[in-house]
Amino acid sequence: MAREKQLQALAEDFMCVTGVVPEIVYAGDPVLRTKTQEVDVEEGLEIGQRLGRVLKKYRKLTGMGRGLAAPQIGESKRVFVTLNENQEVDIFINPEIIRYSDSTNFFREVCISAGIISADVERSEAIRIKWIDGSGQEQEDNFSGDLARLIQHEYDHLEGILNLDRAVPGTISLATFDPLKEKLRDQPIPPTSF
Ligand SMILES: [Zn+2]
Repeated sequence: MAREKQLQALAEDFMCVTGVVPEIVYAGDPVLRTKTQEVDVEEGLEIGQRLGRVLKKYRKLTGMGRGLAAPQIGESKRVFVTLNENQEVDIFINPEIIRYSDSTNFFREVCISAGIISADVERSEAIRIKWIDGSGQEQEDNFSGDLARLIQHEYDHLEGILNLDRAVPGTISLATFDPLKEKLRDQPIPPTSF
């Protein structure tokens, strides 16, 4: 019964999001499966600011959501945003991941465009990426841990790839755990633990 109530609450939250944040598109929409196009800086900044507004609205509503990519609002362009620890929006325009570490980890990822479904995904522990930032400046930097994972997830959206596509076999499940308490792991979660 407790699980039934939990699932009902998840479904109700999801229906609420689809009503209050109508900009978001969901798995099944072809734009999420399409490799995106580069933008000029002006267009990239406009899309980045729009993404930031949608992400903040989503986060205010659900308490979750740390990143959003342009295809998730129906724009097939190479732009994504993340929320930093101060809840400010960081914009990544025409990003390119130029190095992936050989060392990897696992994490049960949820995605705003996959609703209440989660998938355990293996990704590189660290990356090096170059991009144009929210002030139009070229940047290049290394990221590791949680941020490296978030950036790889958002970058995948620009390639037309969802977390569900990268799921460790047998790990696509309803997200009945607390995503905010999820930690990076050395091993995938056994499917029976979902
Ligand atoms: Zn996503």
